[in-house]
Amino acid sequence: MNLHEYQGKELLSSYGVVTQKGYIAHTVEEAVAAFERLKAETGTEFCVVKAQIHAGGRGKGGGVKLAKNMDDLKQHAGNILGMMLKTPQTPGGMDGDGKLVRKVLIAEDSYAPDFSACKEYYVSILMDREKKRNVIIYSSEGGMNIEEVAEKTPHLVHKEYIDPHVGLRDFQKRNIAFNLGLKGNAYKEFLGFISNLYKAFIGADASLFEINPCLKTADDRIIAVDCKVSLDDNGLFRHPELAAMRDTDEEDPTEVEAKSYGLNYVKLDGNVGCMVNGAGLAMATMDIIKLSGGSPANFLDVGGTADAERVEQAFRLILRDSHVKAILINIFGGIVRCDRVAQGVVDAYQSIGNIHVPIIVRLQGTNADIAKELIDNSGLEVHSAIQLQEAADLVRKFIS
Ligand code: GDP
Ligand code: MN
Repeated sequence: MNLHEYQGKELLSSYGVVTQKGYIAHTVEEAVAAFERLKAETGTEFCVVKAQIHAGGRGKGGGVKLAKNMDDLKQHAGNILGMMLKTPQTPGGMDGDGKLVRKVLIAEDSYAPDFSACKEYYVSILMDREKKRNVIIYSSEGGMNIEEVAEKTPHLVHKEYIDPHVGLRDFQKRNIAFNLGLKGNAYKEFLGFISNLYKAFIGADASLFEINPCLKTADDRIIAVDCKVSLDDNGLFRHPELAAMRDTDEEDPTEVEAKSYGLNYVKLDGNVGCMVNGAGLAMATMDIIKLSGGSPANFLDVGGTADAERVEQAFRLILRDSHVKAILINIFGGIVRCDRVAQGVVDAYQSIGNIHVPIIVRLQGTNADIAKELIDNSGLEVHSAIQLQEAADLVRKFIS
């Protein structure tokens, strides 16, 4: 689950990480009130208006604007609120439709009084599964062009691996601060900053923290000006206050609906829908679809039960995608009996009616033979297979 920038900053602050201060606004009036409040509390002269959507690169798309006075603020807040913001990270990129901005963060100007005396760093924390370590990735060349830095000058991007059982050691903090070229007060502040940041990462069961820019101010302080936070869904039950931050407006509506049925669905952009029981088999099925020349339209794990009701819900979700040219159902009947799944497929097919794409069903395991017979005798446009290769051949036939 992803958090908005303002939510991520709340989380970081609660662990003592210094963040750019700001207030959320849904209307221009609220934005004005937020700026007034910031002025009173921090003495800031300017403020930044920052679109809150679940995508980065907002600066590049015009979603982050500096306001030097109230008129500026009203204009920027008015423009950004309600806009379809396109960034390199919104669906379809700069050529896509963008994402609707429903709220803005009004934040103090962290770069005052002298923009050019500030320096932007990049700091992120994530898990390196291969190394079985957490890793802090950092660079002295932070800011809006970090992707380019990573591509053209990868030697400027450093990594510090952390044994999760030992935690972040003091020498590692010093190593990072040193490699960033920090000195004096900034060096000292950074040690506390990275320490608290790592504590927050572990404490919140996060899967990604990305602080870009992590700013060194003109007066040598360290501040998180932006943050991207992804939390591990499997840890959310331990953090009801974080789980409550879920913003379903930002998520794919079909994925949200699928979740409410207990289906594990991820929308992709291919032409073959798939319905599978078990995540591993779902991954393998997507590979098979690729090998047969198609590309998966979705990942869908119907879970262990795969009864008629779930199969029907899954069907409806897949059919909503107009790119789908064929549907491959791949069920391994270990706990569920294949004949029951087959009956579910036939029932769902009849109940939905008017299904205009070929359906290929591969059932393997308990009662697979009975299941195949059931499907073959159903009189519906459903093609059965027992071997995965047969199923793949059918997919190839129907999409080419
Ligand atoms: P992103 O583009 O979605 O990553 O949004 P960021 O929050 O990182 O902001 C993008 C850019 O806006 C930063 O790299 C800064 O150059 C600029 N920016 C952000 N906050 C401030 C601020 O307080 N003052 C000024 N002058 N510029 C800011
Ligand atoms: Mn950023």
